[in-house]
Amino acid sequence: MDGIALEYRDPLFGVIIFFLIVFIISFLTYSFSIFQERKSRKEYRRLHKRFELGKLKEDDYVHLYKTYNLPFDSILLLASSFIHKGDYNKSISIYLALLEHIKEKVKKEEVLELLGTTYFKGGFLQRSQEVFKRILKFSPRNKKALTHMLLIYEKLKDFNKAKEVANCLEELNKNMTSDKLYIQTQIIINDPLLSFEKKSEILCDLYEDNPEIQRTVAEFLLIYNKELFWKKLSNFKSKEIIDLLWYLSFEDVDFNEVAKDNNALEIFNAKGYLNTMDHSRDFNLDILILLNKHEHNTNADLDFEYTCTSCKKTHPIYEARCPHCHSVFTMKTNYTLTKGFNEANQSLQ
Ligand SMILES: [Zn+2]
Repeated sequence: MDGIALEYRDPLFGVIIFFLIVFIISFLTYSFSIFQERKSRKEYRRLHKRFELGKLKEDDYVHLYKTYNLPFDSILLLASSFIHKGDYNKSISIYLALLEHIKEKVKKEEVLELLGTTYFKGGFLQRSQEVFKRILKFSPRNKKALTHMLLIYEKLKDFNKAKEVANCLEELNKNMTSDKLYIQTQIIINDPLLSFEKKSEILCDLYEDNPEIQRTVAEFLLIYNKELFWKKLSNFKSKEIIDLLWYLSFEDVDFNEVAKDNNALEIFNAKGYLNTMDHSRDFNLDILILLNKHEHNTNADLDFEYTCTSCKKTHPIYEARCPHCHSVFTMKTNYTLTKGFNEANQSLQ
């Protein structure tokens, strides 16, 4: 009892206790602030990482759109940046996440169009078709959806359905002349009930009024009816189908018919199958003819590529429908001199 009374009375003890309390409080405050700072730094780093473009989760886009009111077009632009990088899956996930939250019909249609187009580019034809069918249910005059339906039917080789869609697009004032012509040739070529002879006959008749289908007809005849091709050689512009002629083997060429066509003569002299000409008006062929005259085993050859006259893109393989802009019969054959296969092979060894 005395002891306690003494402690209370000792002023020095009170001062010590006071400073001790001050020290403990300031220590605790300091420690807490360090803890807080560390925590917020960690949080900041986490957020920074999360919102780096490319690391955003699908829901983040919805969040940016709904919470931060980022314009709808900007969100779509962000999502489409993945398509340019070839990351179709990422764009698809974003469009799907957005679709869950969008209520307006116009915006929904826009996102569905983007989703369908991305599925198409990524090669998911079935899913792309489902999306465009969904659009056409509430917007049957949507040209983008109809055009993609046409392309999908073509890829699935359902040319009769493609023709129906082409007719719909024509009713919407879209010029479908070339598309319909292309589809018509494919319906003939893929008809299981027609013989090759009958197909050749129909295609040749069609070609008379439609010079655009020259290559399709020439290609078909060279595979299934070579005899008829050589008979009809004068109907074709040999230089425009030079690549088809160039890769024919010697035995497959009818030199009696070739003799009647000056362009074909130049091509086969340049190829080295004939030695009946000294010159060609075509620079590349002229060089090859000269080389053939002076060397028995030239390693020079022709290299072919195809330029679309509509979008100006160049492709290594000919396609009746440009894979880039989807125009029909717009690819033109270009050829240049190149080192032959034999020499290229030897230099690799
Ligand atoms: Zn093109």
